[in-house]
Amino acid sequence: MTTTAPPQTTLTRAQIETTIAALQPVQRVMVRLLLLPYLDPPAEDIAFMARERSEPNMRAGLKQGGRSQVAHDKISGLPKDWIIAVENKVRQFQTQLRGQLTRLNLLADFLTDYLAGLQQEITATEQLLASECEIGSESLEDLRAQAKLSPLTYALKKLAARADKEEIEEADYLRERLSLEFQGRLRQRDRFKKRLNLILLERQASILSSLSDEFLAEIWCIAVGPITNRRVKAVQAYVNALASTLKSSLDAASFAAAVNAGIGPKLAGGSKNEGIGSKPLAAEPIPPITPKPCEHSEGGTKSLTAKLRSLAIYELGEDEEVKMWPRTVPCLNCLTVVRVAQLESGIIGRALDEVVAQVKTRSAFPRKETPATAPVEAPASQDKTAIEVEELLRPFIGDDAGQVGAKSW
Ligand SMILES: [Zn+2]
Repeated sequence: MTTTAPPQTTLTRAQIETTIAALQPVQRVMVRLLLLPYLDPPAEDIAFMARERSEPNMRAGLKQGGRSQVAHDKISGLPKDWIIAVENKVRQFQTQLRGQLTRLNLLADFLTDYLAGLQQEITATEQLLASECEIGSESLEDLRAQAKLSPLTYALKKLAARADKEEIEEADYLRERLSLEFQGRLRQRDRFKKRLNLILLERQASILSSLSDEFLAEIWCIAVGPITNRRVKAVQAYVNALASTLKSSLDAASFAAAVNAGIGPKLAGGSKNEGIGSKPLAAEPIPPITPKPCEHSEGGTKSLTAKLRSLAIYELGEDEEVKMWPRTVPCLNCLTVVRVAQLESGIIGRALDEVVAQVKTRSAFPRKETPATAPVEAPASQDKTAIEVEELLRPFIGDDAGQVGAKSW
């Protein structure tokens, strides 16, 4: 199979910045806008755009992409609110673009680490099934094969109820519990792998795209016609300049691909153009974004934060996870909570022995300790026992654990 290698990304940030700075002003401004998530347009770019607000022809799109005729010395005489208006637009779009990239990077990191930890959970459970329950490799295969069909939450609730009523022996309990966890983890791994793959695709698309002509026109406050014209010319000039920076190390096909990407059509989504290959810049960390409080965290939903934290350390019930993932985790604020919990919990890079010990503790047979020392509080202790059982099972049954048998399935 022959494939065309993508253009070599041996360019450094300094080379890119120098190349852009050497372009004609209108092209320089345009290229920096196309690379807005990675570059901060300087004050002179802002002033350049603001200056064109004074030209009715340009704003109406009557002048097709010509150079600004306004004298250079007018820059200092610009009304301040024009400059502020352009500056605000630039920051607004930059914040949006950076927020999106930050979210995708954060999500990709979270998911990658999550899957590594999940694999440990699976291996640990497998080990315990073999060592504590003498489950052979064939039975493990059966469990794997049936993982997709196993109704985990219901089965765990039933198991909890049986343990509570002392209808099950410890050895049977342990085998069933670990088997159910094992299957739950396998399903979870499938879900998270799919999520990671989607995010990596989305991130790739995001890196390779840039603002649409409509948005560029909104920032610049001129008509779309001249914007398109300028973009095409600016990208050609930029790619030419880069090529000479690289001393023609781009081969003809890669060069053509880069130019075509820059002048290419609008993406299917409608709000973006194909980008100009900002990979060397995208590889660098973008300035941190402070997430805004989201609607999920409003109304004092402390339990949401608690759930997000449980998710990070593999303790959120399967039902809950499936329900809350699409609603909350794609949001930068919620995602930040999850990622911080993951980083601070010490869950990343645990030794397998440690994971095995944790799984063993978590899945231990719930013993009812007869409260010999406090007979007066017998009813309260009963409740407590029930709560402890729930607590042990919570990772897999979610928050409504108290309603064993109360719901119709
Ligand atoms: Zn949120």
